[in-house]
Amino acid sequence: MYLHVSYKYMFPYGRLTRRVVPAERGMIMKKKLTLVFAAAMMILAMAGCGKEESKTLVMATNAEFPPYEYRDDSQNIVGIDVEIAEAIAEKMGRELKIEDMAFESIITAVSTGKADIGLAGITVDEDRLEFVDFSDSYTTAAQVIIVKEGSAVAAPADLEGKKIGVQLGTTGDMYADDIADATVERYNKGFEAVQALLQDKIDAVIIDREPAKVFVSENEGLKILDEEYTLEDYAIAVKKGNTELLDEINEALQELKDSGELQKIIDKYIVAE
Ligand code: GLN
Repeated sequence: MYLHVSYKYMFPYGRLTRRVVPAERGMIMKKKLTLVFAAAMMILAMAGCGKEESKTLVMATNAEFPPYEYRDDSQNIVGIDVEIAEAIAEKMGRELKIEDMAFESIITAVSTGKADIGLAGITVDEDRLEFVDFSDSYTTAAQVIIVKEGSAVAAPADLEGKKIGVQLGTTGDMYADDIADATVERYNKGFEAVQALLQDKIDAVIIDREPAKVFVSENEGLKILDEEYTLEDYAIAVKKGNTELLDEINEALQELKDSGELQKIIDKYIVAE
């Protein structure tokens, strides 16, 4: 008896307490864990809902720009940009969805969040940087001049005072605008400018080199002047300030560069001279 009391005295919370408390704690812990688990499930479920929507990667483009984006015989949108976007989407675990629109509308679609990315042979340009951010460049490009064979226009300097066809809202449009005394005819599609040239409605077309090569190869009596008008960089446009998406895209792009996959895509469509 004496011993028992002194034991309790020495251990005020006694053996009984020491045995029960851990068990009680266990119960409390279990309850807490259940709550944490439930909360985690709710958060996951909510995140899951959000993910359903962001599982797509919406690409705004203008499928009139071979070999970067154009429609094949089955009307599918194909090309270098499409394959790059597909490879990036795959790395991000998203499904690519393509929205075909006027070239002019692409920057707006991206800056308003209608599309996640703009990929359409878009040249990195100061004015556009006010509305969107650009990824690292995925290729270099050039503006060239298409004329009819036998044309008096033999070099960029000869464009002064001439009628120049361009695609509305492109860098070619901006450059043509700066040429002294020139009249600029703006078309919705680059191909329409080329048709106008064939019909002698204009003297020359300023357009990106690779589509120029395609259009010239498909039509008799046209040539591309040797002297390129300007050199440019193509990049992917994302909504201004969306650094998370931009970083993800740059990371995926870098992987495609390092693995040689990007070059493989380009080589599939552009045969080196
Ligand atoms: N590279 C040009 C630009 O960004 C043209 C692009 C295009 O017509 N798709 O303006």
